[in-house]
Amino acid sequence: MNSKYPPPDGGNPRALLSVVIPCFNEEAVLRETHRRLISTLEGVPELDFELVYVDDGSHDATLNLLRGIQRGDARVRVLSLSRNFGHEIAITVGLECAAGDAVAIIDADLQDPPEVILKMLERWHSGADVAYGRRTKRDGETWFKRWTAATFYRLLNRLANIAIPLDAGDFRLMDRKVVDAFLAMPERDRFTRGMVAWTGFRQEPVEYARAARAAGETKYPPSKMLRLAIDGILSFSLTPLRLATWLGFLSAGLALAGIFYALVLRLFTDSWVSGWTSMLLAILFSGGVQLMLLGILGEYVGRIYGEVKRRPLYLVKARLGFPSTGGWVAPDDEPADE
Ligand code: UDP
Ligand code: MG
Repeated sequence: MNSKYPPPDGGNPRALLSVVIPCFNEEAVLRETHRRLISTLEGVPELDFELVYVDDGSHDATLNLLRGIQRGDARVRVLSLSRNFGHEIAITVGLECAAGDAVAIIDADLQDPPEVILKMLERWHSGADVAYGRRTKRDGETWFKRWTAATFYRLLNRLANIAIPLDAGDFRLMDRKVVDAFLAMPERDRFTRGMVAWTGFRQEPVEYARAARAAGETKYPPSKMLRLAIDGILSFSLTPLRLATWLGFLSAGLALAGIFYALVLRLFTDSWVSGWTSMLLAILFSGGVQLMLLGILGEYVGRIYGEVKRRPLYLVKARLGFPSTGGWVAPDDEPADE
């Protein structure tokens, strides 16, 4: 009864921790990930836990493996999406289904060591509402990825009105109230780390060395990284829209200076007919600026369009191991491969 982690409401004396694990084609590491998670969490006898695996439309044996894992362990829940909806959505799905007093999010590829969850739990226990992993060392990642990530976070911190911690990913543990606040945000372009930072509350870093992927390969090619970066900036900042104003002032200023210069030439010299190059440059410059700003406007309008369509955020293909009214949802009858 003397739980080290009493839940805030004091009802059930044992707190429940949910761990959300988004998986996309992770057959190569999944078994090992599960083993590491179980052995880590079983080391905390005062705590109940559940593992919520979200299969993000994998087309390898991931779902079959998860089915096998779920059969052998009632603490495992599996949600399989009808197709690949992307990492950010997979996280939201997991959070929606997690029942815990605290919920952790961890990658399936063991780049985030499960043991660090224990440190996050300690932070939670001492009053933090969010304990986020801050990477001190990143093995197996190219300098390009590290450099673009660092530049992006600095840019985002400048543009957005909220402080998104540098060098933090989605590996984190959140108190129930933060999870509820997060789920109350209905937006479709979901940038988890920014949205969690936005909720406020007490957020504390837990430092860890980010390992190399245990097996398999990254599901984040540069194009997806760029998409995420653009989502991050556009969902948290209106500064790009203000660029129009600033560039407008700049080109109007330049034009004024140009008029003044032309007048001086006209009145006091006789070399005023030359200058078609500068005219061409001015046309190209203002045309380019307008197209660029139209593009930025288009990005925002496109997102508004996406929001007003109000399509469901995701579709579920299978749910396994969830307690539901009247018992447990039976696992599918397809055979597991274990
Ligand atoms: N992931 C996902 N859906 C996707 C892409 C990735 O659920 O469309 C999961 C993936 O299985 C992993 C996590 O998101 O658990 C992070 O992906 P990955 O390790 O490939 O990204 P990286 O660490 O290289 O940034
Ligand atoms: Mg990874």
